[in-house]
Amino acid sequence: AKTEGRDTYRYFEASMGAEARDKRVMEHELRQAVARDEFYLVYQPQKEISSGKMVGFEALIRWRHPERGDVPPSIFIPLAEDSGAIGQIGDWVLTAACREAASWENPLTVAVNVSAVQLHNPNFSRKVHETLLKSGLAAARLELEITETALVKDMPRALASLRQVKALGVRVAMDDFGTGYSSLSNLRAFPFDKIKIDGSFIKSVDTNGQVAAIVRAVLGLGRGLGLPVLAEGVETLGELKFLDAEACEIGQGYYLGKPAPIEAFGDLTGHGKRV
Ligand code: C2E
Ligand code: CA
Ligand code: CA
Ligand code: CA
Repeated sequence: AKTEGRDTYRYFEASMGAEARDKRVMEHELRQAVARDEFYLVYQPQKEISSGKMVGFEALIRWRHPERGDVPPSIFIPLAEDSGAIGQIGDWVLTAACREAASWENPLTVAVNVSAVQLHNPNFSRKVHETLLKSGLAAARLELEITETALVKDMPRALASLRQVKALGVRVAMDDFGTGYSSLSNLRAFPFDKIKIDGSFIKSVDTNGQVAAIVRAVLGLGRGLGLPVLAEGVETLGELKFLDAEACEIGQGYYLGKPAPIEAFGDLTGHGKRV
């Protein structure tokens, strides 16, 4: 029976496409990657547009695979979400980002991406609370970035999680605003503290009238709701000038600073400085 089982397995594997096999292997490797210490974080500056002043960093995960090299999160995060590995990976990200930020001299905020699976875990807010206590990071310095697609699976559960983390003093930002299909009702139903306009709207905002009209409308929406707006993917001076003229509060993008290991920002965080 044992041999038969193995043959059946082989047959199954041979019938899978190379892509599916590759995916299965990667899912397996993802589950081991935390223990093997293959993840690390890079940080991207978030700046007040009117002054250029740094207000915080978004933490972005990187996976250095021993053979494949750097695997982009756009590839492995969806796999981790499908396979369930995202729970463990998400815990690792939250812990690493809070610990890191707690060590900074400058009390800048740290923004952490949260996936649907994490948000729908009934223990989510307890994990956030424990992580804050263990790291010593003040709740007000943590911001959680949540996409609309992460809300829809079980809206009452997602709403409960958001309320619970907000009760701790943690802020929540709606990520990738404009790319979902019911942005407006979600803004009303969920207690967000910030709107992050997706980078696809910032590209050519200064040269395309249609795009400019959309971004202006989102800025008006933020003003009306009393929510600051962050523009993602700011890549040029022209885009930044448009956003400044339209009084967009915060910017993030290659023009303002690329994601990099925290040591690159030593002057702001106190890293590498000898006391
Ligand atoms: P996101 O949350 O929208 O993150 C912004 C992405 O835009 C990052 O890609 C960043 O490197 C990139 N970016 C920043 N400035 C610019 C710019 O000026 N132009 C362009 N074209 N891109 C810019 P990255 O790091 O590859 O991450 C991709 C996505 O993977 C993220 O999108 C997020 O959805 C997910 N992700 C990254 N880290 C984590 C994490 O720790 N947990 C979870 N759940 N998801 C993560
Ligand atoms: Ca994000
Ligand atoms: Ca985003
Ligand atoms: Ca995105």
